[in-house]
Amino acid sequence: MLKRDIPYFAETLNKMFPDAKTELVYNNEFQLLIAILMSAQATDKQVNKINRNFFEFLKTPQDWINLWVEEIIMFIDSVSFFNNKSKNIYKTCEILINKYESKIPRTIEQLTELPWVWIKTAKVFLAVIEDAPYIGVDTHVHRVLNRLWLVKTKSPNETDKKISKWFTKENHGMLHNTLVLFWRYHCVARKPKCSTCPFLEKCNYKEKNLD
Ligand code: SF4
Repeated sequence: MLKRDIPYFAETLNKMFPDAKTELVYNNEFQLLIAILMSAQATDKQVNKINRNFFEFLKTPQDWINLWVEEIIMFIDSVSFFNNKSKNIYKTCEILINKYESKIPRTIEQLTELPWVWIKTAKVFLAVIEDAPYIGVDTHVHRVLNRLWLVKTKSPNETDKKISKWFTKENHGMLHNTLVLFWRYHCVARKPKCSTCPFLEKCNYKEKNLD
């Protein structure tokens, strides 16, 4: 990746998805964190469907702490890893209450001390809530950046390390959100929409779909 490619890449995605925002539904930053935690190994659609059953009345860490873990399990038992997620959401709420006065910390170091919050989770949260210059690199982002001319890496972790210094508040735009929409609706795993892709000329992917 050349330095001059960064604004081109971000601006092109901004033009494709000018109103990009996360598709997770939430009413406050605490619920956003819960939704991101729930979305590990699950789709945003699944998470929204489950969350709408209780987000109306579970709005703060204290609301969750007032429940038994077993009750949390009942609320979210249709999402993957619901046992672990329930216990970790409960523990996260305890820490938020005791250490942060029920607010959500705003640094990667503090966020990753919370149970079940990995670096990717923390970056997604900060990118969505305050448009911080981070990208949450999962397998999809890793796939797309490797298809393009941007990286040649073997794992999402390696991709994350490689790109973590590329973006600043100035050149980042809404890159996390636009990139998610790009892999979800345009550069999909099977049958990417190459014939209408603005990156067609630069893309290195050998099995382009030009139908
Ligand atoms: Fe994805 Fe095709 Fe665009 Fe390459 S040309 S980024 S494979 S949609």
